[in-house]
Amino acid sequence: MSTLEIKGLVASVAGKQILNGIDLTVRSGEVHAIMGPNGAGKSTLSAVVMGKPGYEVHAGEVLLDGVDLLGLPTWQRAQAGMHLVMQYPSEVAGVGLADMLAEAYQARGRSAATLEAEVSDEAGRINFATALLDRALNVDLSGGEKKRNETLQLGVLSPSIAILDELDSGLDIDALRDCARRVEAATNESNLGVLAITHYVRLLEELKPDVVHILAGGRIVKSGGPELADELERDGYAAFV
Ligand code: ADP
Ligand code: MG
Repeated sequence: MSTLEIKGLVASVAGKQILNGIDLTVRSGEVHAIMGPNGAGKSTLSAVVMGKPGYEVHAGEVLLDGVDLLGLPTWQRAQAGMHLVMQYPSEVAGVGLADMLAEAYQARGRSAATLEAEVSDEAGRINFATALLDRALNVDLSGGEKKRNETLQLGVLSPSIAILDELDSGLDIDALRDCARRVEAATNESNLGVLAITHYVRLLEELKPDVVHILAGGRIVKSGGPELADELERDGYAAFV
């Protein structure tokens, strides 16, 4: 069992305060959706939790099983069990997917002996073309292929808590279903806890959220059940901003 606790998080980027006090707790096996208008601070929240450079934390805590993540470099946050599927996955020329995963395994003290079989099993589960496995990380992949690639990494590395920053952006309907179902399966198979940032109910139909939060103006302004997502789909954010 793992618990990610975000408490009273206030943070700024480029001298502008974006997060104005975020409180959020995600436990193993739970799916929390975060919805909110453009510019609300959703990606900023994921960046601050993962330790992306350039963000300044003014108050609050981010704890994974009681360990303060804010004091750790990003790689140690990942080692502790955090994983981010980025809204815009980075292309890393010259670094192969298998090499990257082998390094990640080594850093976690896991044997890479079964890695190749696991990668090919994961690729099959999400219909990721095996011909793409030999490419440099995300280089020359389409938007949808990049997100499948990111989902494959999540499946192989099996983190405790994953943040998905608009997993659905750039995905066609089939790819969205494949990726979302894989993440949903992980919540059962390996007790993954998920913080899913999204604009679309379609993702949430596959990735059944336990809780839906609305983030606006750097604050969680409302939390509720899945019906909150349907309400937003119907009425928009006007009532919340
Ligand atoms: P969301 O993901 O909810 O659409 P973001 O967290 O990306 O919103 O952005 C929140 C606000 O922070 C926006 O006004 C954005 O322009 C600003 N912002 C984000 N990152 C930076 C940055 N590196 N430099 C300056 N402003 C930034
Ligand atoms: Mg964003």
